[in-house]
Amino acid sequence: MSEQPGFSTHAIHTGQEVDQVFGAVVPPVHFSTTYAPDGIGNLRNGYDYGRAGNPTRTALQVQLAALEGGNHAFSFGSGLAAEDAIIRALLRPGQRIVMGNDAYGGSFRLFDKIHSAWGVANTPLDLSDHARVAAELENDDAALLWVETPSNPLMAVTDITALAEIAHANKALLVVDNTFATPYLQQPLSLGADVVVHSTTKYIGGHSDVVGGAVVLGSDDAAADLAEKVAFQQFAVGAVSGPLDAYLTTRGLKTLGVRMDRHCANAAAIAEHFEGHPAIERVLYPGLASHPQHELATAQMRNFGGMVSIQLVGGEPAARKVAEATRFFILAESLGGVESLMNYPHEMTHASVRGTELAVPENLLRLSVGIEDVTDLVEDLERALAGL
Ligand SMILES: *Cc1c(COP(=O)(O)O)cnc(C)c1O
Repeated sequence: MSEQPGFSTHAIHTGQEVDQVFGAVVPPVHFSTTYAPDGIGNLRNGYDYGRAGNPTRTALQVQLAALEGGNHAFSFGSGLAAEDAIIRALLRPGQRIVMGNDAYGGSFRLFDKIHSAWGVANTPLDLSDHARVAAELENDDAALLWVETPSNPLMAVTDITALAEIAHANKALLVVDNTFATPYLQQPLSLGADVVVHSTTKYIGGHSDVVGGAVVLGSDDAAADLAEKVAFQQFAVGAVSGPLDAYLTTRGLKTLGVRMDRHCANAAAIAEHFEGHPAIERVLYPGLASHPQHELATAQMRNFGGMVSIQLVGGEPAARKVAEATRFFILAESLGGVESLMNYPHEMTHASVRGTELAVPENLLRLSVGIEDVTDLVEDLERALAGL
């Protein structure tokens, strides 16, 4: 027997012990908001009140921590609630976030519209310019480096190991938003990141039926110190996930490995098929040899994920027309579900960053490639492109 179970074995068994009372193979969902102690001050297994802790949420957190190779995980009501908790737990007014200039629009909106009003500033920049990142982090107020890789929707891949070194040399913390890659494809803690954040709404939930977020921290003393701060923030503010949401997320996580294998295979097939198509200017997918960080992605990730962006020769009108012409690719926000989704970021997910440094090209469509039969997906896109 190997000492460490593999990814999918962890996903199915860790935190999912057979129920002690009835032997239920699937642990029960605990809806109770309050817990009776064995006398005053004598809590049973540490639970007293649902905001502070809930066994179903704990089961998810144990599972998540194991899958990221970490020691502490916190499940939140949304990805942005998780991000907010990180910023408020770890930064103070007068400090600054250094971040990629192609971060998820909602993350930038949170930092720029909410946190900046409370005195935490942000500096978006090109994360591939390591000298610029280092120069920014040399300033004492720059306390946190925020990395999203692959990025949304430009699919830029950032060198986590290199940026962890730069951050730590400057006494800054490195946070990696691992939503696109998932722990199955990329494990930022093992590459030096201090904090991993997820929108579990996407691949981890995996079925477009539950909104959630997570913060995962590593195993050393510094991580334990960060965990105490995040735990207190979560307890005192209360942006926790509810029991049913936690349960659905746990159920999604159990099949993450098999789903990701299929997402990756389908996305690669689509990227390869449409690269060079006369209506397409550029296909952005880290698995293509033409991707500027293809080698880095190969080294850093197990596989290249299910997200593909395409830029159309016909500009904005062509992008809008194709976005509305597919059958299986459903025009909708979000990503990471079993069904394929089509998104026009300029006006949908990234509308809030129009006119800023984070604006997305007007001819770009973002595809969340689902796990349907890939020939149907290729035909669907071919038909939509033929209509131009
Ligand atoms: C969706 C998303 C978020 C925000 O998560 P919510 O669950 O929608 O709050 C953060 N980062 C990335 C990369 C995302 O795709």
